[in-house]
Amino acid sequence: MRELTDFDEMYQELIIDHYKNPRNKSKLSKFTDEVKSHNPFCGDEIELQLNIKNEVIESISISGRGCAISQSSGSLLGETIIGKTVDEARKDNESMRSLLKDENLNNEQLDSLSDSSAIEGVKKFPVRIKCALLSWSALTDILSKY
Ligand code: ZN
Repeated sequence: MRELTDFDEMYQELIIDHYKNPRNKSKLSKFTDEVKSHNPFCGDEIELQLNIKNEVIESISISGRGCAISQSSGSLLGETIIGKTVDEARKDNESMRSLLKDENLNNEQLDSLSDSSAIEGVKKFPVRIKCALLSWSALTDILSKY
């Protein structure tokens, strides 16, 4: 068994914390967009609501059920994109996909992803990448309308 580095442990703690205490879970009373996404491989479900005004993501609700990776990735996504413009969220979405394909990101891209980059460790487990991208795919569906 390989020993965990401090770096791995820090990331794992962050992922577990977001799984146990998901952020932005409350449903919105007012929203412009809503999408439900499902990952049949794992049984994961994600429900994403956004309230977008003047191209800015003003509020977000993300909830669901399933494995720790899918749910924590969703919670992290919410914190990453809230308050950003549609364009910025699109760029984060592309960065997230690049990260999981093991492509190098520049510092600006990593800064913008903030804690969402903690999900990077999943790239070593290809079957879990669908779990990690479930919420980001839901986001793609919504942003494609803008
Ligand atoms: Zn999963």
